[in-house]
Amino acid sequence: MRKKLVVGNWKMNMTRGQASAAIESLLLLVDPNTEVEVAICPTYLTIETVSHLLRRSHFLYGAQNVFWMPSGAFTGSISATMLADAGCSFCIVGHSETRGRFGKLEVPESTLGYFSETDETINLKIKSLLYQSIRPILCVGETLAEREAGNTDSVIYDQVKGALAGIEPAEYYSGVVAYEPVWAIGTGKTCDSAEANRVCGVVRKAVAEILDADAAESVQILYGGSVKSGNAAELFSQSDIDGGLVGGASLDAEEFSKIVRSA
Ligand code: PEP
Repeated sequence: MRKKLVVGNWKMNMTRGQASAAIESLLLLVDPNTEVEVAICPTYLTIETVSHLLRRSHFLYGAQNVFWMPSGAFTGSISATMLADAGCSFCIVGHSETRGRFGKLEVPESTLGYFSETDETINLKIKSLLYQSIRPILCVGETLAEREAGNTDSVIYDQVKGALAGIEPAEYYSGVVAYEPVWAIGTGKTCDSAEANRVCGVVRKAVAEILDADAAESVQILYGGSVKSGNAAELFSQSDIDGGLVGGASLDAEEFSKIVRSA
């Protein structure tokens, strides 16, 4: 039986002081006996602050990105070895913002390439995380143009296939995939729950084909894209949706705790 999982992606938000205040509120607001797995992915610079405050709680934490080499001359990068050393349980990979597939374009188009992860670099990142027993949260999702062209399912299948190539099925039994339609991220537009569930089913089928049936049964598949307290319960009650990856709404402790309660 898969557990529900709710992950807060804080993105490039929260100073150390703000992070402390947010975690202290969350610890008061979320039932310590909840069966739901709850994780926060803060910036690299606030991981230490967050981990210290969470040390005696049931909350987990992780990072938003990783570089696949263990160490060396890679200025500005952080390895899975370092994330493991910092106690991270999770790491997001392949987010549409790091793939350079922004839903709502907030950077000049000419700089988009700066962010662009590929299926190959995502695959290397996942392998480096699994080697350190860190659970990857692989994000997949179609742009609006891809959806309108009728290519949603093939885009999702190809992203899952590229990311999981060469991985032993058992290595991904505690892995996570988040279906995040690019057009729904930070835009306030949520994917209809039945359609979100259908595409999460496409992800599960792809995992069964690329890895095996046991991996497909155990992998947690999250929905992400403008999840709020008002739509979380309906989304999380769908058969193939095992929880949520929450961006904007995770910055508000009260709102995030309501989303956790919905799960
Ligand atoms: C995200 O960035 O992973 C996300 C789902 O963002 P939001 O909830 O703000 O749409």
